[in-house]
Order: sequence, then structure tokens, then C-alpha cells
Amino acid sequence: MTTKTDLKNLPLPALEQFLQGQGKERFRALQVFKWIYQQDAHSFEEMTNISKALRKELSETAIISNLEPEAVEQGNDGTRKYLFPLSDGASVEAVLIPIEGRNTLCISSQVGCAMACEFCLTGTFKLTRNLTTAEIVNQIMAVRRDLVKNPPAPSLVAAGAVDDEEDDDSPGSPAAIRNIVLMGMGEPLHNLDNVIPAIRIMIDGNGLQLSNRRVTVSTCGLVPEMGRLGREIPNVNLAVSLNATTDELRNRIMPVNRSYPLKELLQACREFPLPGRRKVTFEYVMLGGVNDTLEDAKRLLRLISDIPNKVNLIPFNEHEGCGFKSPTRAAIDAFHTYLIDRHVTVITRDSRGGDISAACGQLKGKLEKK
Ligand code: SAH
Repeated sequence: MTTKTDLKNLPLPALEQFLQGQGKERFRALQVFKWIYQQDAHSFEEMTNISKALRKELSETAIISNLEPEAVEQGNDGTRKYLFPLSDGASVEAVLIPIEGRNTLCISSQVGCAMACEFCLTGTFKLTRNLTTAEIVNQIMAVRRDLVKNPPAPSLVAAGAVDDEEDDDSPGSPAAIRNIVLMGMGEPLHNLDNVIPAIRIMIDGNGLQLSNRRVTVSTCGLVPEMGRLGREIPNVNLAVSLNATTDELRNRIMPVNRSYPLKELLQACREFPLPGRRKVTFEYVMLGGVNDTLEDAKRLLRLISDIPNKVNLIPFNEHEGCGFKSPTRAAIDAFHTYLIDRHVTVITRDSRGGDISAACGQLKGKLEKK
């Protein structure tokens, strides 16, 4: 038996090739693509502007996969966390953060992760496998469906800190996803073969119709892959999880640094093709008593000052079995103020979704323990 092709793995040019390979006209691909992403078609039967014969043929060689969440938890602040079971029994999470009608969706790129950052819960699951392009895109489509059915209540759509383009204040629609961040489970640059086609589908005007200005890829610092991403998808936003300001500490808490030390990582940030006024987001997980002093803040500033930057401070989210502690409020405030006073754009992530274990890998951890 030959396996059927999941059409959600194919950006438009690949879908054209697939249909041409079956002797079909090229324009059919655009019709099918629009049915899938704009009409959310689940089957070929629904594609009424396509002949019955072709629909039947397609259903013999192709499928349109889908994800349905098995658990959705909503936090007091409107944050929604989705757990998606996959066809092989694995599962991944996505988190929706509604802020002033500008919904940001954080999606996963792998089941588990191979990067083994010492503070990260996902890292303790190790890498099970890469997500397919379809599984990445389907997280977005499932949340989009949920948002149409259950738009966030206006009272929950509170003001707060968010990663957003500061040069664009247009209000978002409460039922639409505005920003996609690849900051969920996994290292997206460790799965570029599937992440790149997924981004192409996200930003295709006939696909999910997101602006590439609103897609952010977050990496722990895989330097060669940063180059590849920049070459293949210029204009995408880059976030780098820095988390330490010396190679000594970074080697310890993020093993990737032993392959690509700070100097090389920062050089890759300088070379990343950021258009116009855009900035690299430096994420900095604050670990109490480990990297949260003013000395760290000073070194951080020195490291990033010649790169267009903004800083995302993330107070460490404690989890069982991990020895690190959250920083004190005073340490967070002092670090934040030090950078602000020196004209750095800083956002300190409040622990949104803290009440629903929305931090990296935590819902999955919780359900698997049960
Ligand atoms: N692998 C990618 C994206 C996934 S991690 C990356 O490293 O950027 C997303 C962010 O969550 C990273 O900045 C990571 O440093 C941070 N993070 C991981 N575990 C955390 C925890 N327990 N508390 C707070 N932030 C955490």
C-alpha cells in the first residue's frame, strides 16, 4: 500500500508539483490550497468547484489532516492552552495569549527537544521526533477554529506586555490570530525542513494570510541554521534565547553554547537579514541567584548594544525536579530598570497563564504524570 500525501505538508508550489505529477492542471492547486486554508475544508468532498472525478482521484492519493485539542485550559487572564494529541500517540501544546485583541499564538515545532537546556522542562523529555509541516500548521488552524467559536471575552482581553511590532498599533480582531511565535515545545531551527514550509503556508496570501512581520522564530542559538532561515525566509522575526552573558555560564545551562559560543551567536545575529527598523528579540530567562544581578544586566547590554535589539525578560517558571529558583521581584525590577534607563526596549513577561501551567511543556508534563 502506498501512503497518501498529506496536502498540509505542501506549500503552494509543492502542491502544484504534486498535482502536475498526477497530470492535473496547475491552477487546480490554487483552488485546493484555498479550500484547505481559507475554507478550512476537511475533505475533498467539500471542494464544490472541482469536478467529482478529480475529487475522487484526490481522495485516493491524498489526505487533509487535522488536529483537535484533547484539552483546553483557560487561565484567569484569558490565556488558553491547548494540548494536541498526534496520530502516533505523542502530544504537543500551543498557547494563545489574547492581549487587547491582538492574539498571539505560541506553537510547538518538535515533540520534546534535543537541546537539553538545564532550566527547561521540555528538554527533560528529550527529542521524540520532529513535527511535520502539517502538524505545525494544524496547531494554528485548530486554534483559529476555536477562536471563531469562542472569541475571548472582552473583559479577559486585558492590556499587558506582548511581543508586537511597536510601529503598528492597528487594533486586532478578537477572533483572529495576529502573531505567531515559534516558542513552544522544541527548537524550531532543529526542524527547519518542516518549519520553513510551514512558515511559507502561514505567510502565503492564499494560505493562512499572516504577515511575515508577525511570525517570530525563537532559537537557542543554532548558528548555521540561523543563516539558512535568513536566506530562505527573509523578513521573519528572530528571537534568541540568550539567558546568560558569559560562555562559562551559558555552556553550563545551555549545552548548545559549547558548539556555538556567544561570539559566534552574536555575529549570526548581526548578519541576520532584518528588514528596515526591525530588531532581534533577546530572551533572557532570569534564574534567581544565577544570572539576575546588575553585573549580568551590564554584560547583557554590552553584548547586544551593537545589534538592533529588544529584550524579553522571562522570570524563571519553577517546575518539579529542577533546582533553579524564580528571581525575586526586586531583582527583576532592578534588571529591568537598568536596561530601560539605558534606552533598551524591555518587556518583562508577567507570568501569564501561570495558573494553567502555560509555561513551556508544563501542561504536557502535568497530564502525563496523571
Ligand atoms: N527552543 C527555542 C524555543 C522554545 S523555548 C528557544 O530556545 O528559544 C521558549 C523560551 O522559553 C526560551 O526563551 C526558553 O529559554 C524559555 N524557557 C524554557 N524553560 C523555561 C522556564 N522554566 N521558565 C521560563 N522560561 C523558560
